[in-house]
Parts: sequence; C-alpha cells; structure tokens
Amino acid sequence: MRHNFGAGPCILPQEVFKQASQAVLDFKDGLSILEISHRTPEFEAVVDETVKLVKELMNVPSGYSVVLLQGGASLQFSMVPMNLLPQGGTAAYLETGVWANKAIKEVKNFGTANIVASSKADNYTFIPKGYSIPEDSAYFHCTSNNTIYGTEMFELPETNVPVVCDMSSDIMSHVVDVSKYDLIYAGAQKNIGPAGLTIAIVKDEVLGKSGRGIPSMLDYKVHIDGGSMYNTPPVFSIYVAMLNLRWLKSKGGVAEIEKENIAKANALYKEIDRNPLFKGTCAVEDRSRMNICFVMENPELEKPFLKFAEENGIEGIKGHRSVGGFRASMYNALPITSVHALIDLMQTFEENHK
Ligand code: PMP
Repeated sequence: MRHNFGAGPCILPQEVFKQASQAVLDFKDGLSILEISHRTPEFEAVVDETVKLVKELMNVPSGYSVVLLQGGASLQFSMVPMNLLPQGGTAAYLETGVWANKAIKEVKNFGTANIVASSKADNYTFIPKGYSIPEDSAYFHCTSNNTIYGTEMFELPETNVPVVCDMSSDIMSHVVDVSKYDLIYAGAQKNIGPAGLTIAIVKDEVLGKSGRGIPSMLDYKVHIDGGSMYNTPPVFSIYVAMLNLRWLKSKGGVAEIEKENIAKANALYKEIDRNPLFKGTCAVEDRSRMNICFVMENPELEKPFLKFAEENGIEGIKGHRSVGGFRASMYNALPITSVHALIDLMQTFEENHK
C-alpha cells in the first residue's frame, strides 16, 4: 500500500480514478470523454455541474461568477493585475513565499506592487501580521497557503481594499467566507482535481475598471460571458474535477472535510513536537494543515529516514529544495490512515535510533 503525500499534482480519491477511467472508455454511447465535442449537451452539463458544485461547496454569494480557466495559477499572477490594476496603479501584496513572489514579479508589466509585509528574511516561516494596507491600493493580494514553506493564513487583514487570494493549495480544505474576497483563484491540482484546470471566483463588480485593452483569452469577462466555453476547455480535467467535487459533497462538504483535515494535521504536528528526532520549521500559529514541513534535529539522519519511509510505502515527503527536510502534503483525499502510517514509521525510526 502506497501513501501519497505529494505536494501536487497529488492524491485524489480512488473512486474518482475509477469513475474517470470508465469515462475514458465510455462516457456516452460508447464514446470516450476524450473524443466528444465540448459543445455536446452532455459536456455542457458537466461544466454546469462543476460550476454549481463550486458555488454550493464554497457557499458563493450572488454577484460572483465561477469561471473555469487554463494556464494554472501562474497565469493568474498576470491576469489579476491585467484585469484589476489601472494603468500605472499600485496594488498591495503580502510576500509569504515563492508563489507570492512570482505574483509580485508579474505586476511590473502593468503597474506597481507595493509589498506591505514580508517574511522573506526568515525564509517565509511565518505569516506577517499587523501591517497596514494603503487605502488607495487597487487591491490587496495574498496567498492563503504557502505550499513550499507550510504556512497558512487563517485570518484576513481588515481592509476596505478589494481582496485577491491565491488559494491554490488550500481551497475547499476549510470553510472560507467568500464574501470577504473579491477574487479567488486556484490551480486545480490539489483539492479540486487534476492539473490543466484553473478556477477563478470573481466578484462581478471588480471587473471592467482597469481601463486597458485586455486580450480576449486573458479577460475574465470574456470567459464569464462565454460560460467557460470561449475556447475549447480542458474537457477531461473539468470532468475529473466534477467527479472529485461530487465526492467532496458526498463526504458532507467542506465543513466536514475541514474536521478531518484538522484531525490529520493535529496528529502529525503532535508527533513532530513529541518525537525528539524531528522538529517543525514554521511558527506554530501559522502552521499549514495542507503542507506540513519538518526537519530532523540531526540532518545526517534525513537521508536514512527518507529511504526508510519510501521503503515502507510513503510517497512524496521529500521537502522542497528551499526548505529541505520533509514536507507531508495532506490534501482532502489523503485518508487519516496514511497519516497514522507515517507517524508509526517516525516512531519506529525513533526506536531504532535510541
Ligand atoms: N500558487 C500556489 C500556492 C501553488 O502552490 C502553486 C503550485 N504548486 C502555484 C501558485 C502555481 O500553480 P500552477 O503550477 O498551477 O501555475
């Protein structure tokens, strides 16, 4: 039995893999999901259901559009300022990691990014707090979960400025109040589905104010008006996302999965804090429930532990090169039994190194 702790693309439920495989062979009357037209009523129903499930699972209020895009979260780094930042305007950015930094880098093509706070000097091991956001910022951009460093923002700052959030690695893992955000985006390949799909949840009133011409493929309004069918959408990725969102709904939705995610994260952090061989890398109050980063007190034991874990069915826990050590990603579909399997190995390793 393999336990997949990969950071993304990552684990999805086995039943989703089975249903998706079946649709590759026969989606409708012997035709594969890979060969049908996206304009068929059957596929239009898939898009409609996917959008409906996102709205339902995240309790999206009226006045927002859910749009299915491509280009990954990385294209959103440019699409956000292109659509929301007036020519030469300034937007506020919270610098909490590599992904936030990449978002900041793209702003210069359209205006100025004002970094209101940063944890870069401490290798992004905490979420800055107590900063202020200038009232004249076109928007405030934050990254709710820092996949590489294992920090998560559990609270938004108080501000009247429109809030834009990269939720790629914690979307639908816990309940959020969408009405506090003006634009949420996420690459799908963690809690939503396979790579190839990007989801944006946009408050309609923030659009159309940049004053610049926007290429059609990069204009949220064009995709919204086109019902996420302005061009050929990533048919299979959307289909698998729909299956996965159905699975999440059948589990009781985001509030229920949040309880499981808390239980999983608490169990592993407890072991990291108890076991004398290991230590966490982030400020305790900002610890992510999705990506749990830890190192060993004795770095020389890291290679042997990694080997021991891999030999015993643990997949994908090698830490990102900028943090080192280990990163256990524990997205919605990872069962708690996998977390217990990892904890058992940490305890056995401790016994073997007494
Ligand atoms: N933001 C975050 C928080 C991420 O974790 C990632 C990818 N892991 C990205 C952005 C980039 O996403 P993509 O590869 O879909 O462009």
